[in-house]
Amino acid sequence: MQLDSLVICEECDLIQQKSQLESGDEELCSRCGYSIYKSKPNALQYSLVFALTAFVLFILSNTYPIVTISSQGLNNSTTLLGVVQILYKDDMLLVAILVLVTTFLTPVMEIGALIYLLLPLKFGVVLPGMKVVYRWMHQVRPWVMVEVFMLGLLITISKLSGLAFVVPEIALISFVLLMFAIIIASINFDERMFWHQVETLSTSQRSI
Ligand SMILES: [Zn+2]
Repeated sequence: MQLDSLVICEECDLIQQKSQLESGDEELCSRCGYSIYKSKPNALQYSLVFALTAFVLFILSNTYPIVTISSQGLNNSTTLLGVVQILYKDDMLLVAILVLVTTFLTPVMEIGALIYLLLPLKFGVVLPGMKVVYRWMHQVRPWVMVEVFMLGLLITISKLSGLAFVVPEIALISFVLLMFAIIIASINFDERMFWHQVETLSTSQRSI
């Protein structure tokens, strides 16, 4: 018996055989009736759409300035990578690395992984290395902290507003939207349905 064909009830610890579920179906515990798993209809399609949206927003967020600060006739605006550069020049290497990793590298890795896993599947193709990319996505996920960066940024803007004229730019709005797009894409990544589709496609590809 293969372990991945089993499922455990979080309420009463019963281990039972996974049922063959289709999109929208629910698996209940045969002992206590607890809802072990509920498949959301079209969850993987939603996840892909929001991952692609996040990709576009990520490009916008890193191409345009975040804010423009005007004080005493001087205007200053910068992008996210500009912020990293300023931190590095101001001898805050650790903070620069943290901002770079949590708001640039890990979000692009998660978005890239979601697209790599879901886009080929949409066209009925299973690409090599999906298990590696899947594991990699899970390791990266806790380090995606766009929301922490946004919170810090909004607090800074509100504090600066008394001292200088602060104008939010395109990247600030796209960063907020990016934050939601990543969350919605990852919430809708129905892992069980994903692997079910991968296995079905792999079996049919092998039998051709
Ligand atoms: Zn149970």
